[in-house]
Amino acid sequence: MILQGKTALVTGSTSGIGLAIAKALAAEGAKLMINGFGDPADIARECAEIGAIHDGADLSDPTAIAAMMTRCAEDLGGPDILVNNAGIQHVAPVENFPPEKWDAILAINLSAVFHTTRLALPGMKARGWGRVINTASAHSLVASPNKSAYVAAKHGVAGFTKTVALEAARDGVTVNCISPGYVWTQLVENQIPDTMKARNLTREQVMNDVLLAAQPTKRFVTPEEVAALAVFLCRDDAKSITGTNLSMDGGWTAA
Ligand code: NAD
Repeated sequence: MILQGKTALVTGSTSGIGLAIAKALAAEGAKLMINGFGDPADIARECAEIGAIHDGADLSDPTAIAAMMTRCAEDLGGPDILVNNAGIQHVAPVENFPPEKWDAILAINLSAVFHTTRLALPGMKARGWGRVINTASAHSLVASPNKSAYVAAKHGVAGFTKTVALEAARDGVTVNCISPGYVWTQLVENQIPDTMKARNLTREQVMNDVLLAAQPTKRFVTPEEVAALAVFLCRDDAKSITGTNLSMDGGWTAA
């Protein structure tokens, strides 16, 4: 177990990629704070299984983020590892894009990354060790139609990652993005109806002709594959990997 004695906060870890990352970090001995929405009984079961505590902060609210970070410092003494993973999506042409959806996507997918990072960094620097891992996306590198807010936010995450990596480079803190292609999670499931409507397609056409069309491997990435890369970035022999945007997209952005 390589993360014994370390503490980790994974945002948006009540489902999908975040939950897989939380489980993988816990399996390596890290003490976890998880975050996100969901059925309280499911969250309690998850916490018991991996020995985590849960904070239900709504990441669109900077005050709630600050309270979560204070609790993480007081209850866990960390985080040493910050995984900014929470994210939402909305699919619509830009001229019909609801302004409140734009604001929510920018707040949760981008501004929350700034707020957690700015509050976690001083402790990491003081301890001389830290890992910030941002779940970006292939959409931090390339665009798809009807995803203006998501693509803008994820490109922002990639730029923010590089900037903070430079600022923390001499402090034992690495800052990286992992950029998955399509991973089969609730977030992808939820956008199928909107994409069907926006492009006038069937469910099967959206899966094969829109989602997997971009992915040369023709299969979805798994949350466990993303989690394994996150664990790798926490290793001591990953200490020279910083400021990178690591694609895990089945070749999508190579095309
Ligand atoms: P998911 O919907 O399964 O999980 C999202 C998590 O974020 C959940 O725990 C949810 O409760 C939480 N969350 C949502 N809004 C929140 C808020 N306001 N405050 C706190 N928590 C909130 O989605 P996922 O696919 O696992 O996505 C995780 C990350 O991976 C996102 O940043 C997403 O953009 C990114 N990503 C996903 C894919 C994919 O294909 N699924 C691809 C590339 C990147």
